[in-house]
Amino acid sequence: MRVTGLPRDPGPAAWNRLLPAPPPPTPLSGDRKSDWLVIGAGFAGLAAARRLSQIREGDTIAILDAVRVGDGPAGRNSGFMIDLPHDLSSDNYGGDQQQDQAQIEAKRAAIAFARDAAQEYGLPSEPITLSGKINAAASSRGMRHNADYAAHLASLGEAHAMYDAAQMQAITGSDYYQGGLFTPGAAMIQPAMFVRGMAQGLQSNRITLHENSPVTGLTRSQGVWTASTPAGSVAAPNVVLAVNGHAESFGFFRRRLMHVFTYASMTRALSGDEIAALGGIAVWGATPADPLGTTVRRISGIGGDRIVIRNRFTYDPGMTVNERRIASVGRDHDKAFQARFPVLKGVAMEYRWGGRLCLSRNNVPAFGEVEDSLFAACCQNGLGTAKGTFAGIAAADLAAGEDTLFTRHQLAAAPPARLPPEPLAWIGANARMRWGERAAGKEM
Ligand SMILES: Cc1cc2nc3c(=O)[nH]c(=O)nc-3n(C[C@H](O)[C@H](O)[C@H](O)COP(=O)(O)OP(=O)(O)OC[C@H]3O[C@@H](n4cnc5c(N)ncnc54)[C@H](O)[C@@H]3O)c2cc1C
Repeated sequence: MRVTGLPRDPGPAAWNRLLPAPPPPTPLSGDRKSDWLVIGAGFAGLAAARRLSQIREGDTIAILDAVRVGDGPAGRNSGFMIDLPHDLSSDNYGGDQQQDQAQIEAKRAAIAFARDAAQEYGLPSEPITLSGKINAAASSRGMRHNADYAAHLASLGEAHAMYDAAQMQAITGSDYYQGGLFTPGAAMIQPAMFVRGMAQGLQSNRITLHENSPVTGLTRSQGVWTASTPAGSVAAPNVVLAVNGHAESFGFFRRRLMHVFTYASMTRALSGDEIAALGGIAVWGATPADPLGTTVRRISGIGGDRIVIRNRFTYDPGMTVNERRIASVGRDHDKAFQARFPVLKGVAMEYRWGGRLCLSRNNVPAFGEVEDSLFAACCQNGLGTAKGTFAGIAAADLAAGEDTLFTRHQLAAAPPARLPPEPLAWIGANARMRWGERAAGKEM
């Protein structure tokens, strides 16, 4: 099969720009053989490779990615590795009680897997810390969402704490928020630092990573898959396809995956005076009480002290957006930033970027053995830090014939539902998101 589209990531991958330049890449050249091929070095691909290295000791694993690790969506996100239900298409993130319980179990196991990897690879705490996160509310509507979410968590027996406006100000330095709902089980990651640390830790004489090596064709003959890149090929009997929405470019799940972009801006490093004027604590993360509102992080680490803002969703079935879109969404980021931090008037955004999400209409993964010995670990429904990790583990387990918590969870899901034809899907999805963003009001 010919791959019909390659990833195009708009704007700089800011988290990766904060880090020292990585060693030069080693793009694939020449024809190679491997026991396993993993396509995609995001959360799903790296988790699959690590899991395979644990359950298939001695096997060789080749990992290919079209871009540098940390430059793709896995290095572009807001870094909330969330253990609880967080359905972006719901009003208050909650869902069916039984499904939520199963999801919590799988996500926590994925977070534990990521933390174990970080420990084994000797990563410091900045790439991944189990610090919890706040669902911040800036309006009475947001407060109601939080109250509903808290009731749902109580019915699941999940720990949480409600913060009032004064507590929120003590944390964030901002008087913008009326309240917050703290949950302790989320891990916060520096996404580029985390995936680069994983990729570095994985590589050995059995596991090789080739960046800047886009797979342009994938064929099978006599029980062996061959993936072609511009300068070489890998032949392997088993393949894990971990390319999220680009599964469709490989010919799978056609008209069943929604390609959505979301966007973020990161300030320049704050000065000592600005930090003092802002107040609050040095590191915190807040998701919005309304799923279509604004996510905010304050970070302190390798790139100094900064604020990161994320908002807006757009449905772009062509999987690309242009620079004009980044600039126009940037105005929404500035509005959200100034409303929350008027004391930082004059602090400019240093980086603005966007990144692809893959959603399905029925909020399920694109998972399973899609052709003989070709296993998809795709479509993370916007929450790929945790869901991508467990999809990757599950694909490795399934491919290796293991029946685990991860395979059972993934295989229990229905297949992604078919989308309406274009332009109906485009009109419907964008209208729904615009309406939801307007309704989010002060949570934006
Ligand atoms: C601004 C923003 C904020 C976000 N915030 C969060 C958050 O706080 N929490 C959260 O859980 N999620 C968040 N996300 C979503 C999260 O980043 C994704 O869900 C996650 O990256 C998906 O992981 P993945 O491994 O499945 O896919 P990806 O990270 O997309 O990795 C797939 C890889 O496959 C590669 N690839 C594609 N096609 C080919 C090919 N033909 N050949 C070779 N390689 C190929 C790509 O280059 C890419 O590196 C956010 C996303 C964005 C953009």
